[in-house]
Amino acid sequence: MTLRLYSSLGGKKSEFRSLEPGKVRMYVCGVTPYDVTHLGHAFSYVQFDALRRYLTWSGYEVKYVQNLTDIDDDMIMVSKRQGGRPISQIRDENDAILRRDLDRLNVLRPSAYPFATQHIAEVIATTEKIIANGCGYVVDGDVFFEAAKFAGYGRLNGVTVEELATRENPESKREYKKRGPLDFLLWQQVDPGDPSWPSPWGPGRPGWSIECTAMSTTHLGKQIDIHGGGLDLIFPHHENEIAQAECATGQAPFCGWWMHNGMVRLDGVKMSKSLGNLVLARDLMEDFEADHLRLYLLSHQYRESADYSASALPALADRYQRLKTAATAEGAAEGEDLVLRAQFQATMDDDMDTPSALYVLDRAAQRVLDGKARGGEAATLRQCLGVLGFGFAGARGPENGDFNP
Ligand SMILES: [Zn+2]
Repeated sequence: MTLRLYSSLGGKKSEFRSLEPGKVRMYVCGVTPYDVTHLGHAFSYVQFDALRRYLTWSGYEVKYVQNLTDIDDDMIMVSKRQGGRPISQIRDENDAILRRDLDRLNVLRPSAYPFATQHIAEVIATTEKIIANGCGYVVDGDVFFEAAKFAGYGRLNGVTVEELATRENPESKREYKKRGPLDFLLWQQVDPGDPSWPSPWGPGRPGWSIECTAMSTTHLGKQIDIHGGGLDLIFPHHENEIAQAECATGQAPFCGWWMHNGMVRLDGVKMSKSLGNLVLARDLMEDFEADHLRLYLLSHQYRESADYSASALPALADRYQRLKTAATAEGAAEGEDLVLRAQFQATMDDDMDTPSALYVLDRAAQRVLDGKARGGEAATLRQCLGVLGFGFAGARGPENGDFNP
């Protein structure tokens, strides 16, 4: 078996091949730290953590970059609401909480963890290249990307630009200044008193998607292997990232595999701040072990939507105990069971099918507990659970990522 991953670009699974043999360049969109992080964030970061660990176990050296959006409309709005409290304070406070949650969930820290405000020079340089290459235009201090000038626009979403233009689009800002409905801001003028940086087009701040292009090319180069994020980012954010990167660098494709995780719903309704139905990972970890929550998250394939309800974690209690007891049983440190290893690999190689992988491990755990395990099966069970990031199975801890706060 070889690893096959699904890419939203093209909409199918294909054999994974990295640009550079043995190395994987991976970028995952981070959060805007203006508020608390919820179960949906935990779902995304635990899934991509499992992928990173699996790639490492499969022999790749993985460079994993995750950004932090510390300047945007939401950050400015929250700062104003808090009486002009500095954005950096709000950022540091919420970021510390997020990192603590992810550390507890045993998510490996990124190799690099860049902040948007640390990459203003790269944002400006990228914007200049886009203008020079014919896809950007300036209108009175604002710089736009002209979607019609980029032939592949809409490819990631797999629809025509006409259809894209009918979708709800958070890039509708400055409509009256744009040449086309899908054009989006690369650089924007600010309201008086808002944070701004000097630029060739006057003081302002980055548009939204440009920061990810500036940071991914800075830390990973012009082309990357895997780009992750929630499926709500496919349009317009990731469509824009492709257009920006390929226009700025002249290299295509910008990314080999676009991997998008599903959303977490609460009792059937999408979890969102505006609906006030957020469930927080840290609240769940008051009552349940972090590994128990990880089991819940990985019992969904990453592309699925997870329908959370209060009974979800209690319903997994017996299963969790079985896996944990079997993985820590006497003899779990010795030998290897090639059959179990191959079964685990086959499921993970199929676009990271963690529900099937866990099912394979459930049956192995039952055999271990019944005293009917094959030679080395307990040890291999423990190893596979470690690959999925379970701390009880001896998985590497978060500090084993390269980034240290
Ligand atoms: Zn992004």
